Amino acid sequence: MPPPPPSPADQRTLPSRLQDYDRGYAAFDWAQARREVTDLGGGRLNIAYEALDRHLDGPGADRTAIRFLPRDGGDPLAITYRALNARANQFANLLAERGLQPGDRVYCLAHRIPDLYAAALGTLKHGCVFTPLFSAFGPEPIRSRVEIGEPAAVVTTARLYRRKMADWIAETPCLRHVLLIGDVDEAPEGTVDAARAMDALSAEYTTRPMDPEAMALLHFTSGTTGRPKGAVHAHEAVVLHRVTAEQALDLQPGDVYWSTADPGWVAGMSYGIIGPFAAGVTLVVDEAEFDAERWYRILDEQRVNVWYTAPTAIRMLMKCGPELPARYDLSALRFIASVGEPLNPEAVHWSRATLGLPFHDNWWQTETGGIMIANFRCLPIKPGSMGRPVPGIEAAVVRRDDAGGIERIDAADETGELALRKGWPAMFRGYLHEEARYRKAFSGDWYLTGDLVRRDVDGYYWFIGRGDDVIKTSGHLIGPFEVESALMEHPAVAEVGVIGVPDEVTGERIKAFVALKPGHAPDDELRRALMALARKRLGAAVAPREIAFADQLPRTRSGKIMRRLLRARELGLPEGDTSTLEGGDDRLRPCASPTAGGG
Ligand code: ATP
Ligand code: MG
Repeated sequence: MPPPPPSPADQRTLPSRLQDYDRGYAAFDWAQARREVTDLGGGRLNIAYEALDRHLDGPGADRTAIRFLPRDGGDPLAITYRALNARANQFANLLAERGLQPGDRVYCLAHRIPDLYAAALGTLKHGCVFTPLFSAFGPEPIRSRVEIGEPAAVVTTARLYRRKMADWIAETPCLRHVLLIGDVDEAPEGTVDAARAMDALSAEYTTRPMDPEAMALLHFTSGTTGRPKGAVHAHEAVVLHRVTAEQALDLQPGDVYWSTADPGWVAGMSYGIIGPFAAGVTLVVDEAEFDAERWYRILDEQRVNVWYTAPTAIRMLMKCGPELPARYDLSALRFIASVGEPLNPEAVHWSRATLGLPFHDNWWQTETGGIMIANFRCLPIKPGSMGRPVPGIEAAVVRRDDAGGIERIDAADETGELALRKGWPAMFRGYLHEEARYRKAFSGDWYLTGDLVRRDVDGYYWFIGRGDDVIKTSGHLIGPFEVESALMEHPAVAEVGVIGVPDEVTGERIKAFVALKPGHAPDDELRRALMALARKRLGAAVAPREIAFADQLPRTRSGKIMRRLLRARELGLPEGDTSTLEGGDDRLRPCASPTAGGG
């Protein structure tokens, strides 16, 4: 049975933009949001249908879906929704031709190239499960994730295949198909030049109607706190992706939107592919790695309206100083947002002064599938706060009791664990092969996030720290973020990671690792100045006892400071799983421009 014709994208009963937070929150209804997703028969749906097919019958069909900026500075390539849909259809046909069945897993190991987007959506069209991996992973992290998830196929490039997979692929018999995208001179033995094979296949494909609960995505967590977990997501996740793309990121049809998230990470999927296409925007895809000057040029030349990035990138931009952005016209920007780590208040002040508008922080996890807490356009920002819950999301601050239950903390400004009431569409449906661990993440109706927060009287949530990172000193519970943000106020400081070190007297004492901006010397005078600043801002009990200077802090590939690694190194303990640690072979270039004062 052919699916019904696409419903016009503008036939909406829910407003796509949140005008009044309290009213929008009170009126929100998941059932209504679900009804706005195209019913492909008997309540079935497909993420890819929402991202692509749905646009084909309306004015969105010939809109640019992807504006691809080649690494080497060559001419941008524009791909319309119609063309991207056709290419995704060819990929779906390739999977069908090779005998892949719905439910089979397809891994993807590639940097941002146009066929990655067609492969992701073509995989979903065919009912297969898509799993992105960081292209910067070494052979071992790739292999171990293949062993956990047992994909039937992997989509990658010839270069990545030769460097990272060829040596061990014979030992993973589950992986039957290696599909190469990008330039392929000669496909190595046992691989398929997928780009060429797709060219020869039909551009027609009937997107498969899927059960809303059918597994669509498998995402590995960032591994910040330990071994990465494989979070399972269902097709109905698209309901949240679309609503939050519109309400939390302010995406409107026709907007030019740039997400800098790596496609190997959940953010690169939820808000680098699904959410934006479901919202009908033009997605800017930059093939290159971070480079401050290039980034400002992209914001200017591409007339970017909405920009979604991460604190680690923002800190690198801040490190390069205000002269660089002053040379570019950033007037097309309407909304800028950040995710992945706490956003220091300093970054909000800086962006207001330097870019002309403030970063809106938002909070979510691989497990939540999409944005849960956000600073909305219609609400005043409190710098340092993650904002308020997304409409449809009930959040609470809780304390775990000894019997495995939880107690809600309703009073304002009390620290506790952030909990979310079960039942939103993008909630993870399991950790692959780790049923007990999954069950442990819930208490009754609540999902326990593992992050400590407080909620203020106005209902804004403030991040304190990950449960594992919180420091207990002299009877106080101290979140590293608070201490880090105070030190970030010093003009010489580029980045800070704070940990607790065991101490006989206080339980733990606070130690800060500080990376400096270019042109600042790590000397005792600066150390004393930083101590004084911390004491003034935080009080003597909370100020760090020790400050060490570091060239760089260890981070995950998704840009998160790995405090557990700082702690392990400090205490001479085993480093644990470091598969997601950012390596030395793909060093980012913070300030390419010599006039920007660094390099
Ligand atoms: P793992 O679970 O493997 O240790 P991870 O938690 O870093 O890794 P992700 O799911 O990528 O993996 O990251 C989610 C976490 O990132 C959140 O639980 C939170 O600790 C942190 N985070 C994300 N956004 C924010 C934010 N806006 N403010 C503070 N912390 C954030
Ligand atoms: Mg986590």
